Amino acid sequence: MLEGQVALVTGASRGIGRAIADCLRAEGAQVWYGVRSVTSEMEKIQSDSQNRVVYLSLDVASGDSIEKGLDTLLNRSGRIDILVNNAGIVRDGLMVRMKDEDFMDVIETNLLGAFRLMRGATKAMMKQKYGRIVSISSVVGTTGNAGQANYAASKGGLVALSKSLALEVASRGITVNVVAPGFVETDMTDALPDKVREKALEHIPVGRFGKASEIAFAVRYLVSREAGFVTGQTLHVNGGMALV
Ligand code: NAP
Repeated sequence: MLEGQVALVTGASRGIGRAIADCLRAEGAQVWYGVRSVTSEMEKIQSDSQNRVVYLSLDVASGDSIEKGLDTLLNRSGRIDILVNNAGIVRDGLMVRMKDEDFMDVIETNLLGAFRLMRGATKAMMKQKYGRIVSISSVVGTTGNAGQANYAASKGGLVALSKSLALEVASRGITVNVVAPGFVETDMTDALPDKVREKALEHIPVGRFGKASEIAFAVRYLVSREAGFVTGQTLHVNGGMALV
């Protein structure tokens, strides 16, 4: 159970991020749903939740937004026990035609944003002598993928970033891990052409795409108190697509 703990999940408006945030809330944490813009529907959920759900305006591509968001969270909650870096984008294309801005947009959102949040959250976690950080990478961060050089670089970068921080803070009660999903049913994969989806299915031994809740459950394990001896690891959740 995560009673009394404070969690921040980025990109929690939909898809995997929302499933993770809902899962941690169901386990008793106070969950800050990081979203690019807070809607009136979100405000209603927040006011009905008796302080268990807070929507935080957080654009991970902006250093200012991250600084303000973390300040707001720490001023109101006084601590942060769990950080889940989930927000991510794709700008696919073959590398020979890829523009600098398509590379940099993906790096800024998927990698620099996670770095900034980890740096800010780690400072608070060191004072608490406790923390759990999980970043959502991807199977392609390990295998690479034609047409996704920018995305694969950002996701592989998350693994190296997490291993490095894991070593720096291991003695402070803080663990830093990665969950690397394969194909999961969300808006991101709905956007794939049918042909690409069919081809992908041929490479998934389990015979289907994953569910967002299955990724959330892997995160749930890594953020538990009981997972305190697991750090610097990547948990692959991909239906057997890549055995790495
Ligand atoms: P999704 O359905 O496209 O949702 C992406 C989420 O990230 C949305 O909540 C989006 O917010 C948010 N986001 C994007 N840019 C942001 C920014 N600058 N600041 C704050 N939030 C931002 O994606 P998903 O499939 O749930 O993917 C979630 C994570 O899992 C990503 O990191 C993705 O790379 C990774 N992943 C997904 C799959 C898959 O098959 N689906 C596989 C491997 C890894 P808005 O609602 O405001 O757009």
